[in-house]
Amino acid sequence: MGKLQSIDISAVVEEMASAGFGHLEESILQCSDCALREGATNPVIMKGSRNPRVLFIGEAPGRTEDMTGIPFSGRAGKKLDEMIGYMGLSAGDYAVINAVKCRPPNNRKPLKGEIELCRPFLMAQIKMLDPQVIILLGNTAEEAFCRSKKLEWGIPKVSGGISILKIYHPAAMIYQRSRIEEQKTLIDTNRYLWE
Ligand code: SF4
Repeated sequence: MGKLQSIDISAVVEEMASAGFGHLEESILQCSDCALREGATNPVIMKGSRNPRVLFIGEAPGRTEDMTGIPFSGRAGKKLDEMIGYMGLSAGDYAVINAVKCRPPNNRKPLKGEIELCRPFLMAQIKMLDPQVIILLGNTAEEAFCRSKKLEWGIPKVSGGISILKIYHPAAMIYQRSRIEEQKTLIDTNRYLWE
């Protein structure tokens, strides 16, 4: 996958998506295209349904996720679970992935180049999971998916038949308690998207 930048990403995404989940997972596990792999214990791929109505996209694995190989399995994951409960979603309704699959050192934000190198995996996952709604958890997820900042918080856009919504990353709920009520308002305003 090292030459991805010089070839058409849509063709690569199409090829990866048509090869199936097992092949994609193996490709991610084998990937060393960016320096993040050197410091990572486990690439983190996804959790949840393979046929979700709602797909949550976070930023990158943290320390707990790096150890478990499961996205949102640490403190922010508890907040995400609470949020999903508040949204009224059941286990079969959603899936969770990250923009970048390997943990950045000291939980720093992934660099633009790292996001770009990991983007074919992200886009292949979206194509395979084929959700009705994509919920971008924070600005990094938005940058990875949209390639720039295009969305207002809590104001959905439709792209390719999929509703795209940006809300706060669950970690923001830990560090800024005022975000909890703001997040609930963003969710309440947009319930019609998944109900
Ligand atoms: S972060 Fe993505 S591109 Fe970088 S090594 Fe991991 S899987 Fe490959």
